[in-house]
Amino acid sequence: MQITNVFGGEHIPLSYEIFPPKGELPMEEAHDVLAELTKLDPAFVSVTYSAGGGGNTGFTSEIARLGRETFNLNMMAHLTCMGSTKDDVEDAIALMHERGVENVLALRGDPVPGKEARDFQFAKDLIPRLREAGFCVGAAAYPEGHAACLDLDEDVRHLKEKQDAGAQFLVTQLFFDNRYAYKFLDKCRAARIRIPITFGIMPFMSKAQVSRMVFMCGASLPSPLVKVLARWEHDPDSLRKAGIEYACQQLIGLAQHGVDGVHLYSMNKPDVAREIAEAVRPYL
Ligand code: FAD
Repeated sequence: MQITNVFGGEHIPLSYEIFPPKGELPMEEAHDVLAELTKLDPAFVSVTYSAGGGGNTGFTSEIARLGRETFNLNMMAHLTCMGSTKDDVEDAIALMHERGVENVLALRGDPVPGKEARDFQFAKDLIPRLREAGFCVGAAAYPEGHAACLDLDEDVRHLKEKQDAGAQFLVTQLFFDNRYAYKFLDKCRAARIRIPITFGIMPFMSKAQVSRMVFMCGASLPSPLVKVLARWEHDPDSLRKAGIEYACQQLIGLAQHGVDGVHLYSMNKPDVAREIAEAVRPYL
């Protein structure tokens, strides 16, 4: 099913992100994660793409096929274009068609040292080709601005270019303070970005994970979160519980604000996803 169809219904859609497992048996592990997520009745499940030398790019569309064929899930494959030639993108499109992928999140990808942009400079350059190839296409959005763009208004103008290029919905970067999401939504609507925006939340499980995310994505750290991290830093069980509670509060707040959708960066931890889904479902 095209992801555009999940928006605008009676309930706010809750979707999940998984990544291709890095272990010895990635497909078996992915099978187990998808089996558990299926029980949560996801609006869709997105599968990340690692072009940074992880060597697992082929697994993205394979996992998307597994989810659709084995679990009847609505799946979305991510695709990056940083450093890709037109031929590389044609190969990726052919593979996704072969594997029955319908939905694609069109991304530039992060710069890799020594790997220059080739035929695609920005995600907006990839979007028209994916639309032409028949996919339902989403793009990434950044409530606090993309880490490399210091001016949020300019970043929103670039986001509008992705809508103009054919993006049909947006999925946001994680953030820990909903106030940024609400201001961002207002900016988007003022900039005539009308496509559905689904807001991504990541439940934190450790202080190291939060620090990594803050530096990688430029997400702000609100003081209530800093206090929680300081309090439970050396107590993993309590920190896990606090991370789940914090994510639930963010998701419920977003739902009460009336957003188009919410997306959980579930980090291949279906147990965490289940606890969150059960807590927030009544609010969606
Ligand atoms: P773009 O939209 O191309 O933007 C990149 C930068 O260029 C921004 O700073 C933007 O403001 C600027 N820009 C855009 N257009 C112009 C223009 N016309 N002129 C000047 N500057 C411009 N990465 C992966 O490797 N694999 C994944 O699976 C993955 N999944 C993601 C999922 C989500 C929901 C999100 C939010 C991010 C994901 N990423 C993933 C990370 C993403 O690849 C990086 O954030 C990347 O640096 C930017 O990708 P983009 O598609 O947003 O780029």
